[in-house]
Amino acid sequence: MLDKDCLFCKILRGEIPSAQIYETPAVLAFLDIAPIRPGHALVIPKAHVASLWELPADIGGDLVTALQVVGRAVREATGATGVNVVMNNGASAGQLVLHAHFHVIPRAEGDGLEPWPGAPYADMAAMTRMAETIRTRI
Ligand code: 5GP
Ligand code: ZN
Repeated sequence: MLDKDCLFCKILRGEIPSAQIYETPAVLAFLDIAPIRPGHALVIPKAHVASLWELPADIGGDLVTALQVVGRAVREATGATGVNVVMNNGASAGQLVLHAHFHVIPRAEGDGLEPWPGAPYADMAAMTRMAETIRTRI
């Protein structure tokens, strides 16, 4: 099911041009128009769903296969030594396009992209409490 106004659905319908690199019955991959690095690709389900939480369960295998195939090809084509696979879910996480998608970003040593900052828990008890709180939601 496609959405009339969705940018990525327009790409799927061919209404907006895109540089496509991989396609299966369930998945499409194409280059990001404003890449972090040249070769930065997007892998999307063909079904219009907003985010990770709405993805149909049976598409997981296709998506992981696509991420492997596209990630390997992006790495080889760009000479990257590493690849970030990133999914933004929700505006506060940086999601601008409300059609679920994975970013495939080629990386190299010293390329200047900083990892996100990490700060340890106050102590082991605080970490254990957080794990318990999360487990109650599962
Ligand atoms: P988000 O911030 O939602 O995770 O990422 C959306 C991505 O879509 C951005 O990296 C942005 O550059 C990319 N994008 C936005 N408009 C277009 C477009 O028209 N074509 C392509 N190929 N990518 C787009
Ligand atoms: Zn869509």
